[in-house]
Amino acid sequence: MPLPVGHALAGIAWQRIRPGLFFDHSWLDALFFIFVANLPDADFLPGLILGRPNLYHHGVFHSLGAALAVAAVGAGLFQLQRRRVSARRHGRFWAQAAMIFMLFYSHLLLDFFTYDLVAPYGLPLWWPFSGRYVIASQPFFINITRSSVSADFFSSIFNRHNLGAALREVMVIGGCALAVALFRCRPTRGLPGKGRNGAN
Ligand SMILES: [Zn+2]
Repeated sequence: MPLPVGHALAGIAWQRIRPGLFFDHSWLDALFFIFVANLPDADFLPGLILGRPNLYHHGVFHSLGAALAVAAVGAGLFQLQRRRVSARRHGRFWAQAAMIFMLFYSHLLLDFFTYDLVAPYGLPLWWPFSGRYVIASQPFFINITRSSVSADFFSSIFNRHNLGAALREVMVIGGCALAVALFRCRPTRGLPGKGRNGAN
């Protein structure tokens, strides 16, 4: 699994593609993208409480079924909010559902391309259609070493090996986010001063 910083940068890249889809305030919008981009790793929480953080990690919450469910529930909640304050724009259901799905599933794809040295290797990417764990034959991102007990789980993440992994994530995923941001900032030909996304 990439570190939260890698997933956060992926979330920022998606936010630059479709800014303002969830919230009018850009910082709140960006925070939501970052939150969803990291959401699959919430499956650490029940294990952390039980003292074994890896117990449920890379289970069914890292799957196609989870991405579809989270997209439907998330977009549904925004739809409820939209009805409550109907005078304001809060986006459309399908556009928001599609973006939540892509955010969530892109996290799974980044995990898919990350070395995993602990069985079962990979993640159940296609559950519920297949429960088989899959991982790229040539992973690109470096595995993250961490303790298997809650007591020193967070402190164990800070080591030289994981720093190297973080640097690779920042360079590759951050580079993609920067490229997207620069592309989206290009002025539209014939409309001086107007951004390509028309969000000005
Ligand atoms: Zn993950």
